[in-house]
Order: sequence, then C-alpha cells, then structure tokens
Amino acid sequence: MPMLGFGTWQLRGNKAREAVRVALETGYRHLDTATMYGNEVQVGQAIRDSGVPRSEVFVTTKLPPERAGRERETLEASLRDLDTDYVDLWLIHWPPPAARLRPTWRAFQALRDEGLVRDIGVSNYSLAQLDDVSADSGEMPSVNQIRWSPSEHDPEVLAGHGERGVVLEGYSGLKGTSLQGPVLTSIAAAHGVSVAQVVLRWHLEHGIVVIPKSSRPERIRSNFDLFGFSLTADEVARIDALTL
Ligand code: NDP
Repeated sequence: MPMLGFGTWQLRGNKAREAVRVALETGYRHLDTATMYGNEVQVGQAIRDSGVPRSEVFVTTKLPPERAGRERETLEASLRDLDTDYVDLWLIHWPPPAARLRPTWRAFQALRDEGLVRDIGVSNYSLAQLDDVSADSGEMPSVNQIRWSPSEHDPEVLAGHGERGVVLEGYSGLKGTSLQGPVLTSIAAAHGVSVAQVVLRWHLEHGIVVIPKSSRPERIRSNFDLFGFSLTADEVARIDALTL
C-alpha cells in the first residue's frame, strides 16, 4: 500500500475524472474512493485515460454502513463502476450498528476469500471496535482509516494501531489543522516547502498513510512532492505538540 495516496471525496463528474488523471500522471499510485463519493465511474475512467496499468494502481473503496447486510451487491456495483475485477482494499466506511459490527466484518472476510478484494479494513473504528471484530473473527482489520492531523495527533491511538499490526491511514490531514500557524510556517520556511507539504511529510515521518485531496493540478503535484526533504526529530516533536 503506497504511503501517499490521492483522496477523492467531493470530486464529482468530470472534475473527478480530470483530477484523478492528473494525480496518476503526477505519479500517485494509490487512489481513495468510496461508494458514498459517487465518483467510482470517473475514477475507473481516469485509470483507463492515464494508460497506467491497473495492476500498478492501489485502489481503495468503501462500503457505506447502511449497506451492511448487502455487502456482495454493493461490492459488485463498485467493481462494475470502477470497471475492474478487484479492488486492492475495501473498507467499512463507518462502524455499523453494534449488532451488525461482527457480521459485516465476517462478510468482508468471505468476499476477500473469494478474491473480489485483495485486502480488507475499516474506517472510523475505535481501538475497542478493532478488538471486538478481531476477537470474534480471529482477524484484525489490515487498515483503519481515521481522521488525523497535527491538531488531532494522539500518540496512544497511534501506538495502539502499531501494537495491533493495523495500518493507520489518516484522512482530512490538511483540513484538521490551521495551515497558518507559526510552528508549521517556520518549519516550511526552513525547508523551502509549503505548509501542506510539511503536514503531509509529518504523517510519513510517523508511518501514517496519507491521502490528500485537491482539485487543482498545482496542488495535486506539490502534495506529491514530499521525498526531497525530511523533518528532523525536533521538528516532528514540535508538530506533535500542536495537538489540541
Ligand atoms: P484534505 O485534508 O485532503 O484537504 C482537502 C482540502 O484541502 C480541499 O479543500 C483542498 O482544496 C485543500 N488543499 C489541498 N491541497 C492543498 C494545499 N497544498 N494547500 C492548501 N490547501 C490544499 O481533506 P479530505 O477531507 O478531502 O481528506 C482526504 C481524503 O480522505 C478524502 O478525499 C477521502 O478520500 C478521505 N476521507 C475519508 C473519510 C472517511 O470517513 N473514511 C472522511 C473524509 C475524507 P482544493 O481542492 O481547492 O485544492
């Protein structure tokens, strides 16, 4: 799973198709969509437009919790819309009601075992909910996609994922924290990069998968340009301390 992906929430229609095409042209090889985003058709078209082989792109989509109980038909619709035989990662978008928590995860296991998805995970689950489905099924979700940014940084939650062997994938990483604050702007100036690049690089320094969304080609490109600099341990600690 590439550590840096392209988020697609709120990108619809041709805007989605064009943004994803630019992302693939830029070098992103990890796309994050969901049934709920209503753009799986455009994501599939953009993969085809790009000429990048399907096998080189890591595609994540998500089951809306209200479709719990209808996992198969929902996944088949995603595959049809994305025009692909499999997705790389399928997530339960939010925890379903308590009575459906375990059966939904078991349904995910069954469809993964059939080969329709390569790997399965969850989103917006607490550590207790991860433990609950794992105790029932004998299998921890591979990934938990949760809201994360400097002001939402929680070392205990991060460590809890590590202890369980669950990949923490952060979302809304650019939205959750002011990009105008003095700590971030001074670190960005020291490296000659943008504040957004500092925030995204900070996720990577912590081993957190990050999936920025943008509709603007110049931002799509700069958000991917994270590998020409790194943050010092002191800079990482100063950003960690932005937790509210
Ligand atoms: P992001 O943190 O990716 O922020 C996106 C916003 O930041 C947009 O308004 C964008 O505007 C702006 N932006 C992008 N790049 C820059 C930049 N370089 N400088 C300044 N502003 C910038 O938020 P998202 O909520 O979109 O989260 C990322 C992805 O995570 C989603 O797209 C989705 O795939 C996933 N997600 C998952 C959820 C879940 O429940 N599992 C919930 C929410 C998101 P513009 O487009 O104009 O550039």
